[in-house]
Amino acid sequence: MPDRDPECVFCGIVAGEIPSTKLYEDEEILAFEDIHPVAPVHLLVIPKRHIPTADDVRDEEGDLLGRMFLTARSLARSAGIVEDGYRIVMNVNRGAGQLVFHIHFHVLGGRPLGKMG
Ligand code: AMP
Ligand code: ZN
Repeated sequence: MPDRDPECVFCGIVAGEIPSTKLYEDEEILAFEDIHPVAPVHLLVIPKRHIPTADDVRDEEGDLLGRMFLTARSLARSAGIVEDGYRIVMNVNRGAGQLVFHIHFHVLGGRPLGKMG
């Protein structure tokens, strides 16, 4: 799996070629605001490395996914949405609504979210 896919919008954001409102960055993870928020808080947490879907995550990348989860949790805390409740979501493949094929956790909150259905 190449680290970067030249066709990928999130790889473009990682490279700084596509603008984004960055919230967190380290050597392997980037978090930024979703461009079409569906809730008052709608953030995305991605690995800098291009991984198309959750199904492509290799066994040795479990720690990376864990650090992405901890980043999502920490950003939820900073956004002040923990007490009221929030959601961490990863859509996997088109049938589940995945449109950008570079894995990402959505962090959603700031309004009642209801049951998943
Ligand atoms: P998904 O449907 O799970 O693949 O989610 C893709 C998300 O990426 C959607 O919520 C889009 O609004 C968001 N998105 C697409 N392009 C951009 C962009 N250039 N900057 C920020 N968010 C984006
Ligand atoms: Zn990518």
